[in-house]
Amino acid sequence: MTNHAEMNLIKLAAQHYDTAFLAGCTLYTSTEPCAMCSGAIYWSGIGRMVFACSEARLGEIAGIGLNVPSRAVLQTGARTVTVVGPTLEDEAAEVHRAFWPKHLGKA
Ligand SMILES: [Zn+2]
Repeated sequence: MTNHAEMNLIKLAAQHYDTAFLAGCTLYTSTEPCAMCSGAIYWSGIGRMVFACSEARLGEIAGIGLNVPSRAVLQTGARTVTVVGPTLEDEAAEVHRAFWPKHLGKA
């Protein structure tokens, strides 16, 4: 349940790079990170995150999730994480429209 793509990437990046290096890195993700992954982005030291489909749009499509915008999590931290998104949201949402109804048995 905690092996979200962002979590896996952050764990892998932390094994190879220190926080000083990660501060100059951008994490790109097709969907806005959940509250857990946003926290991991913060603690990893990654300096910038770009997402396509918003958590709100995912919630509209799938009806699941925490529905906490990543900015709401990240703005509470002592250091700044630049957040860019949503970008290309309609295109990114198509993946979810194709996946979630079948996955949840609603198709
Ligand atoms: Zn997540």
